[in-house]
Parts: sequence; structure tokens; C-alpha cells
Amino acid sequence: MAVCEILSVGTEILLGDILDTNSRFLSRKLAEMGISVLHRAAVGDNHERLAEAVSTALDRSDIVIATGGLGPTPDDITAEVCCRVFGFSLEENKEVADKIRGYFSRRGIEMPLNNLKQALVPAGGTVFENRNGTAPGMGMKKDGKCLILMPGPPFEMQPMFEESVVPFIEEYRSCTIVSHEVRTMGIGESAMAEICSDLLESANPTVAPYCKPGEALLRVTAKAETAEKADELCAPVIEEIRSRLGNVVYGVDVSCIEEAAVALLKEKNLTVATAESCTGGYVAKRITDIPGASSVFKHGVITYANEVKEKVLGVKHSTLEKFGAVSEETALEMAAGIRRISGADIGISVTGFAGPDSDEEGKAPGLIYIALDAEGVRLAEKTETGRNDREYNRYVSASRALNLIRKYTEGGGRP
Ligand code: ATP
Repeated sequence: MAVCEILSVGTEILLGDILDTNSRFLSRKLAEMGISVLHRAAVGDNHERLAEAVSTALDRSDIVIATGGLGPTPDDITAEVCCRVFGFSLEENKEVADKIRGYFSRRGIEMPLNNLKQALVPAGGTVFENRNGTAPGMGMKKDGKCLILMPGPPFEMQPMFEESVVPFIEEYRSCTIVSHEVRTMGIGESAMAEICSDLLESANPTVAPYCKPGEALLRVTAKAETAEKADELCAPVIEEIRSRLGNVVYGVDVSCIEEAAVALLKEKNLTVATAESCTGGYVAKRITDIPGASSVFKHGVITYANEVKEKVLGVKHSTLEKFGAVSEETALEMAAGIRRISGADIGISVTGFAGPDSDEEGKAPGLIYIALDAEGVRLAEKTETGRNDREYNRYVSASRALNLIRKYTEGGGRP
């Protein structure tokens, strides 16, 4: 297996002024290619120390990747020092020089001459285009060793790595790592892990549990020669997880519950309308965050005050008096009301205490009722998050409402 060393160049990294996120990104990406990162180092903008670091790295590793210090100022010494140590001379690249000139003339700025320093690239090396800045990346290969130089800013370095460096170091790749996420809602991380405990022991693919606010997920990761083979290893394990966990699984490789809910509504050709109290429009916002939501989302209202719940949604005064605004009965009438006034197939409502204080009746923060109203169907769910955290309670309530839409829609009209 090929061995790689990552060098992060810049005094500001050593001083702790910036966090070395480039190394983290590169380590992960290289692991996916089956390339071992055995050393990582941070070096200041100093000729001798950088030369020593590159020389040591080239002695013990097949690939050395340095980021940072490719700018135009005198303290940007990475290209000069690294190329000298590796035995490559620098020469001006006309294409890169023209691109730098063009960059300044398009902005109507006179180009400081030192910017042409960024057009100096190793003779006999490969230039990597920088789509997001002026400093190009560089790749050199000699005697089975490979040296890569990339700019420091992550938004320049990351696309350059994916687009140019990955193909450049393809010959060092020994495997591919593929991950899939099985996402669940309505089951805790530990209960989920217990049901799948034997799967968590497996070596390839590995199965690892994670949690996010209000949800839990299992990441299934396989290592193989090709992505297709890795997928083949993952598929039966994902199927097994799905069959064990049942309908708490809301999707595989979906980014969020709203994405799953909107996709299902589209598939079933159903529309939805929202009536929200404590979530203040969060459910509607999250539905409309998804591109194409206009085909499934009809109408959303925020009915915070009781009189508005009565006036706009037709919640009965007696219901509010008898059961309170945070109750199953009120939630059901809110859902029925919004369905009636919007003409949507599904009305969904949320009413609860987001906190941080308890209400005057002493009901705890995190007590939430969610209801769904559809043709011949009235459903309500009670949630007690047990958390005194307003943002968390609002987020989780919205997630549960979206999950109720998902379960109802997925069940062909039944949860
Ligand atoms: P530029 O052409 O912008 O000067 P450069 O290649 O010379 O790029 P540096 O001057 O070393 O890069 O760093 C520029 C910025 O890039 C830093 O201020 C920092 O925001 C970011 N950066 C540099 N190295 C890293 C790193 N290892 N991890 C995360 N961010 C980094």
C-alpha cells in the first residue's frame, strides 16, 4: 500500500491562527483511495525547516502533498523550496502567466509584478488548474516518488484535489472505500444499535451508529478494488438493516427527512399544508427548502395565539378551554382546519412548548403534539423531548412532523 505524508505550510498554522482542515480533508480522501497517511506535519514559512521537512517526507513516503505558501509574496516559498529539494527547476508557464494577467485586467486592477511568481512551475512537471484562484497546483514524479503542491485556501485546494490530483496519483490507489447512510427517525441510537448489534461487529463492510438531533443513522462502509464491488458488499447489509428496523428507516443516502418526505409526496402525487404554533413556520421552511417543493406544498400558516387558531383554523373555543393549546385535540383540529382551508390532501400541525420555561399549567418544555389530517385519516403523535432547549425542541418537532408526513405517504395513505 502506498504511503503518503501531508505537509501544511504556513506560520499561521503553527501559531494556531488557523486550523489545519486541509490535512483532515486530504487524509480522508486518501484513505478512500487506499493510500496510507503515516505522517502529517506543519511547517512555518522558513526555507531551511521546510527543506528539511520535504526531504524527510520524500525519504519515507511515496507521495508528499504540501498545501499553502503558493501565493505571490516573499513568504510564499513552497514552490521554490520543494522543487529544489526534489530536483526540479522552475520556469515561467505562459498559459498560467496569461491567466494571472487576465484575472487582474478583468477586474481593472494593475497587476503587481510579484504575481507572476505564481506562474513559475516545475520544468517537466504537471500544472493543476486553479478554478478558484490564481496560484496553480503542481505535480512532479521521479524515481517512484510523487510530490504535489496545492494552494492553502480550502475552496481552491479541494476542487483541485478532486479534479486534478486524484487522476494524477491514480497509480498509487489500492482500493476504494464506499459509504452509505441508513437514516432513521423514531428510534434511539442505542436501541437501533442493539437491534443491529451483530452487524456492528462485521469487518467489511463495517457498520457504525451515529446520532444527530432527533435521529439516528447507521453508516455502512465497504472497502474493495472498485466502487461497484464495494457497493455489492454494502447492498445485502443495507437490506438486512432495513428489514430489521422496518419503517423507522426513512431513507438511504438521503440528506434529510424533508428530502425524503417531499420525494414521497411527489411520487404519490399528494399535496400538503401546514399549521404551526411552536415551530413558527419551521416545517413549511424545511419543505420549501427542497427544490421542486411547489408541486407538493400548498399553504402554511403560523397560528401562535389561541384566537388565531380559532379564527383562521376553526379550532373550537371549547377544545382550547378544555384541553389547552398544547394538546392532541387542538393539534387534530389545527390539522383538519388547514386541510379544509387549503384544499391540500394532507394537513399537518404542530403545537407544543419549545421552552425554556414551563407553561402556566406546569407542562414541561419539549412536550409536543403533532397531528395529520387526510381523507378518512386522523393521526396524532405526542413527543416529550425531555430537553429544555428551545432550538432543539423546535427542530425536533419539525422533524417529527415531516416524519409523520413521510410515514403516512410511504404507507400508501396509512402510517
Ligand atoms: P494565497 O495565494 O491565497 O496566498 P497560498 O497557497 O499562499 O494561497 P497561504 O497563504 O499559505 O496559501 O494560506 C492562505 C489561506 O488559506 C490561509 O489564510 C488560510 O485561510 C487557508 N489555509 C492555508 N493552509 C491551510 C490549511 N492547512 N488548512 C486550512 N486552511 C488553510
